[in-house]
Amino acid sequence: MPIALILNLDYPITYISGISVQRATLLYSELGIKSCNDLLNFFPFRYIDKTTFHAIKDLQPNTSEVQIVGKITQVKSVAQKRGSRLVATFQDRSGTMELVWFKGQKWIKDALKIGQPYVVYGKLNHYNSSYSIAHPEMELVSEYKKKLQTKMQPIYHSTEKLTNAGVSNKLIRAYIQKLIQQFYEETTESLSEEIINDFKLMKKRDALLNIHFPKSQENLAKAQHRLKFEELFFLQLQLVRKKLVNKSKIKGYVFENVGPIFNQFYAEKLPFNLTNAQKRVLKEIRKDVASGAHMNRLLQGDVGSGKTIVAVLTTLLAIDNGFQATIMAPTEILANQHYIAVLELLEGLNINVEILTGSVRTKKRRTIHENLENGTLHILIGTHALLEDKVVFKNLGIAIIDEQHRFGVKQRAKLWAKNNLPPHILVMTATPIPRTLAMSVYGDLDISVIDELPPGRKEIKTVHRFDSNRLSVFKFMKDEIAKGRQVYVVYPLIQESEAMDYKDLMDGYESISRAFPSPKFQISIVHGKMKPADKDFEMQRFVKGETQIMVATTVIEVGVNVPNASVMVIESAERFGLSQLHQLRGRVGRGADQSYCILLSSFKLSEEGKTRLKTMVDTTDGFKIAEVDLKLRGPGNLMGTQQSGILNLKIADVAKDSKILVAARNTAITVLQEDPNLEKKENYSIRTSFAKMNKSSKIWSNIS
Ligand code: ADP
Ligand code: MG
Repeated sequence: MPIALILNLDYPITYISGISVQRATLLYSELGIKSCNDLLNFFPFRYIDKTTFHAIKDLQPNTSEVQIVGKITQVKSVAQKRGSRLVATFQDRSGTMELVWFKGQKWIKDALKIGQPYVVYGKLNHYNSSYSIAHPEMELVSEYKKKLQTKMQPIYHSTEKLTNAGVSNKLIRAYIQKLIQQFYEETTESLSEEIINDFKLMKKRDALLNIHFPKSQENLAKAQHRLKFEELFFLQLQLVRKKLVNKSKIKGYVFENVGPIFNQFYAEKLPFNLTNAQKRVLKEIRKDVASGAHMNRLLQGDVGSGKTIVAVLTTLLAIDNGFQATIMAPTEILANQHYIAVLELLEGLNINVEILTGSVRTKKRRTIHENLENGTLHILIGTHALLEDKVVFKNLGIAIIDEQHRFGVKQRAKLWAKNNLPPHILVMTATPIPRTLAMSVYGDLDISVIDELPPGRKEIKTVHRFDSNRLSVFKFMKDEIAKGRQVYVVYPLIQESEAMDYKDLMDGYESISRAFPSPKFQISIVHGKMKPADKDFEMQRFVKGETQIMVATTVIEVGVNVPNASVMVIESAERFGLSQLHQLRGRVGRGADQSYCILLSSFKLSEEGKTRLKTMVDTTDGFKIAEVDLKLRGPGNLMGTQQSGILNLKIADVAKDSKILVAARNTAITVLQEDPNLEKKENYSIRTSFAKMNKSSKIWSNIS
């Protein structure tokens, strides 16, 4: 059949000779490969490198595959428990090792040519300080020299089902080779000539050829670079385009005036000078809300960087223009803290502020609803309770959402629906997100960063101690308490080992109670199994300073503010993730006193655990910590990444390829600024590839 002639990359792989419907079904269910194009873009995950030759004396126990030129000096059969094995002594100029066979011994023994040079290749075993290869690939040097060698062999991911069905790596290689041979000439470029020249990228067709069948390490690196760039470029093109489209399509309220209230507050009530970072962020927000477009901005600022004041000033921008504002927090404790802070800041300004949470009584609730609808209530602060249907604003101008990851995107959208136009949205998060990750996950949002702490903060001193030092830690706690400070002691609570964890918590509580006896010391305990009212009661005792020690699971993680607490002891710290450790540490260092964080762990630490603890000891910079976290865990485990395209990336890795990512994003921005609809002739290749991706792939499905 002359199928080859009509083959098109969009066709299902059954058009490739040798791929039956059965095989195609399996390739689809196991690897998601459906079309010829899918197969062509199924990249190897590693390569067998036959470009280098090893010398026996240089072999290392951790070397995996080796290629060696040498001679066999003798062959013998060695008896073992069951049957025997064939062992050849193999020698090069530098040393000796063994080649071993368990199967086909007779045939191999006859075929081996003693004293003649061979090229031997295989997986290196290291045992009793000597090296061996079992069932090596072998070729006489004389033969080897005659052949054209494919020196780097691609290895593709496979599954047991595929292997059992006879779909070997060799077979996949053969299929792909066919495709490449056939389509090399026709493979069209997907980037513009300018981009290719500017970044000295390999051409698309050569990149595809070399990613599968690289001629050298260097070519492979170039191919990988090109394909990573391309992948990140199109992801960024999508995000940046979405952002631009939203900006031009979704109208927002215009806050024209920076009016009397804002100015009065700024002149008379501001309790401190804003940091430069706070000023910059405020400027960004003011520009947004005056533009006529809808603001959708993410404000990142580490714990204690002063996001609250930015939020409050932003609400004043709305109020000055006749709009209402709302601040939503993930927990009742936090909503309360915001409420108290806002009341204090706005005292004497004639602004009505209320709080709405689950525990607000019906009668009070009704009044709030009324005043919200008639417009006499200016700022409403609350929890999820704000999202109930009964909560209707007269004219909500801005919604500020603290710690967005606790709220779903859908819930946010619900807020929008209450107006004619969507209120401006400012999402605040204390979880630092590495820049490259933010670009990829929130690339369609505007991002502001407060990257500066208010002046005069004392850096929290962090140490790592082993469990065996607990007594001296207790002593330290006593000294701090004697100075009037308060102490947190936090225990891990991991769902999988919940029962054990509660036991640890209770045991810990008991031993602390013994070491810090009442009535001299008072201890609070808070954990997830308590009733909310009890939790709140205990929390309040600590906030008021009635208790000196707070023993808790991670429930205290988000936002709690007790400036007098200056010591954070984290038990089994090796079990916490980096971002969690960082969040926990952020609970202290909020007052004027020197604060401390003590990380307790057992002696048994994994490499990753060690890195986490060391990172915490070395730095308090949330962004640096987040970078390490991204490198350790990869983007998939970090917050907010689940719905984003970065998890579908085939070849690029936002943690490792940050330079390429930044270049790709900047390029996408430049291209779209100059040619928003990709209509220019020089962007023709970009447009066609982009359109194709939008149609075919999951990543692109959310573009309009
Ligand atoms: P977060 O970003 O964690 O929400 P907050 O807004 O609660 O931080 O601010 C932390 C503390 O720093 C508060 O006590 C606040 O009053 C104070 N603060 C904020 N900005 C400044 C500033 N520019 N100068 C001095 N103190 C500030
Ligand atoms: Mg805050």
